[in-house]
Amino acid sequence: MAGVWRQELSSLQAGTQNSILIGIIIHSGNPKIFEPTNPRYGFGGERAVWSFTFRDSPDDFINVTVWGSTEYINSCFKSFQVGSVVEIINSKVLSRRPDDSRDMFVPTVTSPLQITVNEGNALIQFHDSEGRAHYQPLLKMPTKTMDSLRSLNYVLQNIEELRDQFIDLLVVVTFIGEVRDIISRDGRSFKCRTFEVADASTEKTISLQLWDNEWIRLSELWEPRKTVLFLADARVGYDNFKKKTIVSIARKTLITENPSVQQALDMRLAIRNRPELSPSDPYSLPSPKNITNVMTVQQITQKLNAGSTGTDERVQFFAILYASITELNLDSKDANLLLTKCALCKRMVQKDRDSCMNLDCPSGNGSREPYNLVTFNVKLNLKDDTGYLVGCRLIGKAAEQIFGCTATEFQTMKAEQRMELKWKFLLSKFDVRMQVLGPTASITRAIYNILHMSRFETAEDISFDDIIDPMRNH
Ligand SMILES: [Zn+2]
Repeated sequence: MAGVWRQELSSLQAGTQNSILIGIIIHSGNPKIFEPTNPRYGFGGERAVWSFTFRDSPDDFINVTVWGSTEYINSCFKSFQVGSVVEIINSKVLSRRPDDSRDMFVPTVTSPLQITVNEGNALIQFHDSEGRAHYQPLLKMPTKTMDSLRSLNYVLQNIEELRDQFIDLLVVVTFIGEVRDIISRDGRSFKCRTFEVADASTEKTISLQLWDNEWIRLSELWEPRKTVLFLADARVGYDNFKKKTIVSIARKTLITENPSVQQALDMRLAIRNRPELSPSDPYSLPSPKNITNVMTVQQITQKLNAGSTGTDERVQFFAILYASITELNLDSKDANLLLTKCALCKRMVQKDRDSCMNLDCPSGNGSREPYNLVTFNVKLNLKDDTGYLVGCRLIGKAAEQIFGCTATEFQTMKAEQRMELKWKFLLSKFDVRMQVLGPTASITRAIYNILHMSRFETAEDISFDDIIDPMRNH
């Protein structure tokens, strides 16, 4: 490539022309799309932007902003992931302004510069050579020294003093929640995953959320009590929704997975022998694949009964149950089998209404078209050799996944079709992964919330006693 030469971040200057940079992507944010009506960005068409953080040596990393059509930006975002080794060719190199207020919203980097890639004028491509291996270790190198680390105990003790500051943490993942689809009040949809972390300084865990699709993808491979994270610039701030000061993953936060430092190994060892923790938030549900505790109906019942004496705290645990379905209300006339909720404010939409009627909600007060979602709200009974669990709940996405149809599709099914669907499941044996919630003062019975169910193919061949309950004596 004539006129283009290889540069390193350490020697890059503002205004450098025709450079080629090689390095690894260590962070990637969600693309943003701007409406064509915004005159600042528009040349008649829609414009989109995507930012990532790029590193070419232990000491050198920089923020890159890519501008282009929505198509171009989405394709870049999908192709070039965290961990991709890429070449950035002919980008625009600019100085960062000191005290730029936008620094609040971008990762802290070592380079005094920033890079802009404009579609058509510059290029990003994979670096497909042997040299790639040289860059891969940079992904595991923390982006700051360990000197600035705060312990969780210190953070929790001093949370109000730390308000509006950014802090660095080294933590072990203790819980990984399911990915949730969230629709904001203005109708935009997001993905979000809750996870929890601990360190050796306290028994307490803290709950964090991932909003970047790329990190949601990567966290699928995290393992409770094994994966260590270095969080550079986690934010301490007041949360209007939770009405308290909390730690959160902000747009500035850089995550290093299993950082290649001794402290990470020490941290994992320190946590390893802790008993398995349930999430501190009863509304956060684990990925079903992370539920490993196999129990019988009898054991579930015993655990519920043991927990209901003494403490005020609600009993909560997760279990795998191998059981068959004895009752499933898919063919019933139950008016609550399908629920309609407002997508924006999440309130129930009454049967004879077409919106939530909530005057604080754009759908309810008529300032926009009603946007309703239909969800399953199925009840079923399970049975194993030791007893019955009556009134288990199977709702939302989990139900759609199991039945292989959406609630909206189910809504249009005729009675015979519903009956047929029901008989596909009735009396078959399943691997059922569930959340069990003990009774409270206001809800007097236990809740069995089914998160995932898959056919247990070998159930006919194997005695239940052999596989699930070696403790039982007959
Ligand atoms: Zn609403």
